[in-house]
Amino acid sequence: MVVDGDRIAYAGPGRDAPGTELTVLVDGFLLPGVADRHVHIAMSEAGSVLLGGVTAVRDMAWPPDEIFPLADASEGPSFNGPLIRAAGPMLTAPAGYPTRSEWAPPGTGLEVRGPEEAASAVNRLADRGAGHIKVSLNAEAGPTPTDEELVAMVEAAHARELPVAAHVQGPGQAERALGAGLDELAHSPWTERVSDGVIEGMARSMRVVSTLDIHSFGVDTPELRKAQDNLWRFASSGGRVLYGTDLGNGPVPPGIDIREILMLFDTGLGAEAILEAMMRAPLELGAPADVIAVSGNPFEDIETLDELRLVMRGGRVVFQR
Ligand SMILES: [Zn+2]
Repeated sequence: MVVDGDRIAYAGPGRDAPGTELTVLVDGFLLPGVADRHVHIAMSEAGSVLLGGVTAVRDMAWPPDEIFPLADASEGPSFNGPLIRAAGPMLTAPAGYPTRSEWAPPGTGLEVRGPEEAASAVNRLADRGAGHIKVSLNAEAGPTPTDEELVAMVEAAHARELPVAAHVQGPGQAERALGAGLDELAHSPWTERVSDGVIEGMARSMRVVSTLDIHSFGVDTPELRKAQDNLWRFASSGGRVLYGTDLGNGPVPPGIDIREILMLFDTGLGAEAILEAMMRAPLELGAPADVIAVSGNPFEDIETLDELRLVMRGGRVVFQR
């Protein structure tokens, strides 16, 4: 692989590679950098996330005055951390989740009253550079936006070419997300067994971020089993699974979380599906030079993803063993 600036200029057999000024020899298996599609980066440590092989993250709810400047800074070549795309605050109903949650500083939730306010909130976030919109459908922790408000959010977001992801918790909330035309679930649902019909509808039009480890950090629980069952049926119906950890909430390690990977494996996803869920862009001409190397071939042994040999972000080697 040859890098020019922050882009890949060549990927292929060594004998055909163009000459370079500097050569880095790595005894390992090269892969694209990992994208974690569900984090709360301010509750973790950005530098450690990058050193752990995660070169891009999506922040799924944080006060806008803090997270949007951080996301802007993360685009700079010398930023000590992964590329950050941010939702800003989570849209919710008055007094809804996460406005009363201990983990969430003031401003992590944005309360909307009515479809017009919901749409204008989306437009304000888009103006500030949001990469996606996050909505709270947590019926166990308070009121949730109405269906009319959800539809207004989705229409406004899609007009700005932004996807909408929901935190669903409580009976029927996944079905509401599907019905309102949302693009993503930020977690595989763990509070109910979602019906086959809804799962099949979701597989046609939505993506699901895994976040399996967050439920129990390595312990087998009914919640984890439910999340795995829903995710397995979703993936078997052709649904697109995205790797994500909810980093920042609980003891999820910064960087690649091998427990999340092993739980995806235990769910039934093969190595190829797991790697596809983790990668942002293939190693090819013109792709970002965000690259990792691991100790062996992860298609044969998925646990090699826990043995980093190299991390490069934007053409810069930040870790090498
Ligand atoms: Zn989260």
